[in-house]
Amino acid sequence: MKLLMHTCCAPCSVYPIDELRKENIEPTLFWYNPNIHPYKEYEARRDCLKEYAKQINLNAIFEDEYGLDEFCKNVANNLNTRCIDYCYPVRMRKTFEYAKEHGFDSVTTTLLYSIYQKHEYIKKLCEDLSKEFGIDFLYRDFRIGFWEGHNKAKNELNLYMQKYCGCVFSEESRYNNPNPPKPELPTGCEYESRRAICVKKIENKDEYLDLLLDADPSKTSIDKYLSDSDVYGLQVDKNIVSLAVILHIDKNTLELKNLVTKEEYRGKGYAKKLLKSLCGNYKQKYNKMLVGTSENNIPFYVKQGFDKYEKTIKNYFVDNYDEEIWDGDLQCIDMYYYSKDLKK
Ligand code: SF4
Repeated sequence: MKLLMHTCCAPCSVYPIDELRKENIEPTLFWYNPNIHPYKEYEARRDCLKEYAKQINLNAIFEDEYGLDEFCKNVANNLNTRCIDYCYPVRMRKTFEYAKEHGFDSVTTTLLYSIYQKHEYIKKLCEDLSKEFGIDFLYRDFRIGFWEGHNKAKNELNLYMQKYCGCVFSEESRYNNPNPPKPELPTGCEYESRRAICVKKIENKDEYLDLLLDADPSKTSIDKYLSDSDVYGLQVDKNIVSLAVILHIDKNTLELKNLVTKEEYRGKGYAKKLLKSLCGNYKQKYNKMLVGTSENNIPFYVKQGFDKYEKTIKNYFVDNYDEEIWDGDLQCIDMYYYSKDLKK
């Protein structure tokens, strides 16, 4: 793959380059940012990228065009829509043009890394340009690594860290903006203490069997529900720390079959967070979620809203497991079913 990566600045390139290199992709960096003002700021960002590219031994092309006049002429009529009307299109079009003229077969951009850019718009713009130029658009949602990249750029690499997006208008907004931009995160993600926490659907379910066995210590039991269930993981930074297995019972009802957190992450509320997020999503389509649990865990589930008692299956854990199951000092014997009204 011969990839040209539009690069807005060195700090925003750190995480995308690291990630692409993990995939054995060596991008060529492409600097074209006439949106950065004033000149000394433009120079500082450009020169920082030149230095960084040299340091990590990556090819970088510089289309050196400081464009204050042209930029202002093009955005003056509607400053509110300047990013999508002019700033993104002018930079990405130039990148695709350069890629076409110089034999690159794919394009991407570090703009997909920033949680402060209009991610979905940039994605759609690049998809359209990809069709127009007949050059692949390599899409990655790099936002998940925003703080990781930021910390590395600032604390480890000591790169020049800009204080505003780029144009003079964004510089003004630093001091005078009643509606500062909100970070845009990947679907299902939030940031907590600058760590990305995301809910992910797990496709390779069997790879998590060991963790599922922590909550349900019988492979035979897990085999009965795993293939028909949806499995979701809570990912903190890049680690899956909790799993939830959800079985569809009928068009109104789901059953939570397994909820587990890796031992070293327990006590931090991750299972609760995962369950809350899933219940929030499932309530669009379903009315009720059931859970079958041992006596010890009833208070936990009641607190999460599973407050309606449904039934008890006597001796379930004795009859269905080869070995005795203990939860702390209490032997698990009967299975208690509770439900949560998802519409509440
Ligand atoms: S705020 Fe940033 S993206 Fe928007 S026009 Fe200014 S430099 Fe471009």
